[in-house]
Amino acid sequence: MNTIEKFNNHVMQSYGRYPLVMEQGKDRRCTDENGKTYIDFGSGIGTNSLGYCNDKWVEAVCSQVKNLQHTSNYYYTAVQAEFAEKLCETAGYKSVFFGNSGAEANECAIKIARKYSFDKYGKGRHTIITLVNSFHGRTMATLSATGQDVFHNYFFPFVEGFKYANANNIAKLEEMLDDTVCAVMIEYVQGEGGVNALDKDYVDAVYRLCAEKDVLVIADEVQTGVGRTGKFLAGDNFGKKADITTLAKGIAGGVPMGACLTNEKCSGVLVAGTHGSTFGGNPIACAGGIAVLDTVNSEGFLDEVCKKAEFIKSKLADCEEITGMSGLGLMIGITLKTKKAADIVKKALDKGLLILTAKDKVRLLPPLTITYDELEEGLKILKEVMEEK
Ligand SMILES: *Cc1c(COP(=O)(O)O)cnc(C)c1O
Repeated sequence: MNTIEKFNNHVMQSYGRYPLVMEQGKDRRCTDENGKTYIDFGSGIGTNSLGYCNDKWVEAVCSQVKNLQHTSNYYYTAVQAEFAEKLCETAGYKSVFFGNSGAEANECAIKIARKYSFDKYGKGRHTIITLVNSFHGRTMATLSATGQDVFHNYFFPFVEGFKYANANNIAKLEEMLDDTVCAVMIEYVQGEGGVNALDKDYVDAVYRLCAEKDVLVIADEVQTGVGRTGKFLAGDNFGKKADITTLAKGIAGGVPMGACLTNEKCSGVLVAGTHGSTFGGNPIACAGGIAVLDTVNSEGFLDEVCKKAEFIKSKLADCEEITGMSGLGLMIGITLKTKKAADIVKKALDKGLLILTAKDKVRLLPPLTITYDELEEGLKILKEVMEEK
């Protein structure tokens, strides 16, 4: 039996998968079981931020595996302490809770927001406003937080206390900010929702209106964080720092890790016994995270991310099939004139290029370490596929 048959016999069919059996990867390229190589513009949905098996990252992760793979959160480890310190200093936050995924990081943010409000104002101030078209994860609470009706099926009843505001509509938000609201949760650039950046005016208004009422701002930076947009946090592009910021995807270079960062005001909300995660802050994941942070923090790295984004846009500027490009930094959405994004992805795959979709757009999330030569090579394939008659 081949891999795909064996796989489908026993793994639940909860994903639409491409018929590609990935075997090995190095830097920005990977190889399938037949030895065909691909250049990767998707980074495993933004997780392999340094590409596949980056030398420094491999060394950090392997040396940690050989030393101590896990201990419970009843004890301390130096590697978690070091990662926490570096992450908080880089991101500009007071403290962090570690989980294993974006959804877990957002669950933590939701719990902190509700408990912050409960501790200070008592019961009833629990509503969290999220945005239409947002994506916050697949657990029951984060699905409930996700502002897309397609996700609100089958699994009833959903978690109470979420309301959805249309992005960039300031008047509507103002109207919705009643006495039951404890937090507003935003993605600066909606990733799964179609790579749409929020308007600067709207972001300003969210912060202003929330500050007036001691309503917390939660920034879901699971996709936008850790250098993806050319700043360490996407909020830096807007000159804003949320009370709570969540990170996952690229944070540890492809090992499971989620982080919920809080400012001084929210750092004391979770006390012993109120939250936890068995694997949260796992030493291997923290070692991977340190390697990512050291790379992203290195001199000139984020400027290069911005330059590469400009390079991509300029190379695609003359492509007839493209009617628009959205996003920030190396998070790029491409609107197509006549073709379907899913077809473009399949054809690119045939020609040895991995890309993604977001709603009806083609989405690019290349590794942050990608070179200009590799970009050129991949973009040549992308243009061929787009311009094919
Ligand atoms: C991917 C994503 C999540 C969910 O992350 P998981 O690790 O799959 O739980 C949440 N929010 C945003 C913005 C995401 O892009």
